[in-house]
Amino acid sequence: MANILVYALHYDGAINKNSLGAVSEAAKLAGELGGEAHAILVGAGVDATLAGTLGNYGAKKVLTAEGPDGLAQPVVDAMAAAIEGGDYGYALFGGGLLGFEIGAGLAARLGAGVAMEVTQINVDGGKLVAERPILGDTSISDISFRSPVGIIIGRLNAFEIKESGGGDAPVEAIDVTLSEQATKATVLTRGEQRGADIDIEGAAIIIAGGRGLGAAEGFKLCEDLAGAFGNTAAVAATRAVVDAGWYPYAGQIGQTGKTVAPKLYLAAGISGAIQHKVGMQSSENIVAINKDANAPIFEFSDLGIVGDLNKIVPKLTDAIKAKKAS
Ligand SMILES: Cc1cc2nc3c(=O)[nH]c(=O)nc-3n(C[C@H](O)[C@H](O)[C@H](O)COP(=O)(O)OP(=O)(O)OC[C@H]3O[C@@H](n4cnc5c(N)ncnc54)[C@H](O)[C@@H]3O)c2cc1C
Repeated sequence: MANILVYALHYDGAINKNSLGAVSEAAKLAGELGGEAHAILVGAGVDATLAGTLGNYGAKKVLTAEGPDGLAQPVVDAMAAAIEGGDYGYALFGGGLLGFEIGAGLAARLGAGVAMEVTQINVDGGKLVAERPILGDTSISDISFRSPVGIIIGRLNAFEIKESGGGDAPVEAIDVTLSEQATKATVLTRGEQRGADIDIEGAAIIIAGGRGLGAAEGFKLCEDLAGAFGNTAAVAATRAVVDAGWYPYAGQIGQTGKTVAPKLYLAAGISGAIQHKVGMQSSENIVAINKDANAPIFEFSDLGIVGDLNKIVPKLTDAIKAKKAS
């Protein structure tokens, strides 16, 4: 029962990065448990070659099942069938809305224990123990399982993608009879959320703006600075400004947004709340600009600048442009 089954979300001919992280994490943990990490892809005509590439992230076997794309219930059916017919102790999800829905549905179907928003998984006594931040991320709870199968749903991008060098994995198509509820819904159309093209996770430099920008228009300062750095830089935001509609959710950093670790994280007008900190604290260099010398962000910044961002950020932009031109 030491095997781990990982759900791998795929669309547009690629496997979602969050799922690659989950497969890598499962491979590491299964190795410690003395078992194997397997992955499962569900969809209409899953590309077996694409599925097999998960071997490069540590999956020893990849299952594929036929079902409609983009819906949770068919995946619940497929994973329940795989678990009932296999030898799995855990099911792992990278997070994201679909991961939460499938994980919760699978837990209900199997009568299994579920740990959500997990940021780290440890092996203790031959079993997995999931760490979940609680009370606004001020404490960590350890979650272990009494059910035969434990369901673990990670926080978005909590698990690092690691190539195993293992080469492609064998792919096995499984037959699944879809339940009645799995055939009730139909996907009519798929749209992109505004800002979905914002790639903050891949950026080496992040210029993040908070409420101190004063208004949505304030993001122009961040965009100009990111532009001066070139295409290695991206603009991000706090939840306060995303909630205010100043910036798209795709750029949100923190507990309910993305987790990033760029070489440089420049925070302009951000107070440094714990829920923001958890999404960016692993950045190599943190520079903060805040007019309040007592702002919490200075407690975990490598360089702090006390002053008005409206004066400082344009000067930085000019300095970077001048440096690049010289
Ligand atoms: C369950 C939960 C989940 C959450 N998830 C997230 C999350 O994922 N991400 C996240 O970011 N937050 C999250 N939050 C919200 C978080 O608690 C903070 O409210 C938020 O991060 C604050 O955003 P901010 O720093 O932009 O705004 P504020 O806290 O209002 O800070 C604005 C800062 O700008 C400074 N400032 C103002 N004017 C200027 C100026 N002209 N020049 C320089 N500095 C200036 C101020 O001194 C202040 O420090 C969450 C909260 C909860 C309860």
